[in-house]
Amino acid sequence: ANAMLSALPTTIFSVMSALAVEYDAVNLGQGFPDTEGPADLIDAAAAALRDGRNQYPPLAGVPELRMAVASANARFCGIEVDPATEVVVTCGATEAITASLMALVNPGDEVVVFEPLYDTYLPVLRMLGAVVRPVRLMPPHWSLPRAELAAAVGPKTKAILLNTPMNPTGKVFTRAELEFIADLMVCHDVYAVCDEVYEHLTFAPARHVALMSLPGMKARTIRIGSAGKSFSMTGWKVGYVTAPAPLAALVAKAHQLLTFTVAPNLQRAVAIGLEKDTGYFLQLSESMRQSRDMLVKGLRDAGFEVLPCDGSYFVIADFAGLGFAGDDVAFCEAMTRQLRVTAIPVSAFYDPDGGPGPRTLVRFAFCKRPEVIAEAVRRLAHVD
Ligand code: PMP
Ligand code: GLN
Repeated sequence: ANAMLSALPTTIFSVMSALAVEYDAVNLGQGFPDTEGPADLIDAAAAALRDGRNQYPPLAGVPELRMAVASANARFCGIEVDPATEVVVTCGATEAITASLMALVNPGDEVVVFEPLYDTYLPVLRMLGAVVRPVRLMPPHWSLPRAELAAAVGPKTKAILLNTPMNPTGKVFTRAELEFIADLMVCHDVYAVCDEVYEHLTFAPARHVALMSLPGMKARTIRIGSAGKSFSMTGWKVGYVTAPAPLAALVAKAHQLLTFTVAPNLQRAVAIGLEKDTGYFLQLSESMRQSRDMLVKGLRDAGFEVLPCDGSYFVIADFAGLGFAGDDVAFCEAMTRQLRVTAIPVSAFYDPDGGPGPRTLVRFAFCKRPEVIAEAVRRLAHVD
């Protein structure tokens, strides 16, 4: 059997969701909304099935969706791309991340990542034979440690893998931070893979800036989005990659090996979603901001120290002040069993082979209905 996969633990998201079901807990662990996405998209997907859109679509994605991805790039980020050669549709951002790294990395290439990091990054990089250079962001603000980043980038660096808005921290990289990264990329001839699945989920005054939109970056950036996050339907697994044509062609080749195509009815529906007026996207982030505020207040009232959160589905809280004797994993288990609220231990987002990271931080998802957050807050009020 493959040694790396044999050693890979089951994802923390499945582990904690199963525990939540076992204890009938409010699941603020795995990040998925508990409301349906837009009805017109669901209707469009259903209609497309009945219209006989049921055979293999084109490898890079149906033309309507590639056009919609290109026009969303122009509308929201000022990025002009050719839908025929610079957009690839994938099975969620998950496949897009793997395919993008496959497109860039040769064994021995160095790839810089930021800790804490999303759980697929490290195993995929290691299976590709990349040498991972982690740069650790520090709580509570998770600001870019510029000197450390500059020291991590060198002649062997092939790419920087960046996630903004960031899971699990809720950090949104500032324009100044992205400009610093861009300068390093030019200086050392490095590519970037930008996981921007939460691009529409930022809370004022924070605003998403796509690294790809900065001067000189289009030729060296692969940008990834997800319909799951932008339309609150995480089960659809429709992702999209925007990249300069030579890189997009390689991503398409990786996609050819991994999954080849994506359900055509879902692609057509997502194309309609991406053409929605700007009000839809503003409303999505505004309702998520209200949910964040509600959860943040409840966590504070329960005695947690809540870290800043400018975007994504997630907020991190520190339980150090609550007097719990144990680490974040023990805390999340105890909270599920005793208070019947589930969250994710932040240590799951660190390299298990790296140095010790924070041990008193837990990630709560707020992409839930107000009454669900209210129930979690009620239960947490008994936290000590
Ligand atoms: N990247 C990040 C940072 C995520 O949080 C997620 C999903 N929660 C993904 C990628 C995967 O997205 P998808 O469901 O579209 O595969
Ligand atoms: N990205 C989601 C999260 O961070 C989970 C996705 C998954 O379960 N693989 O909660």
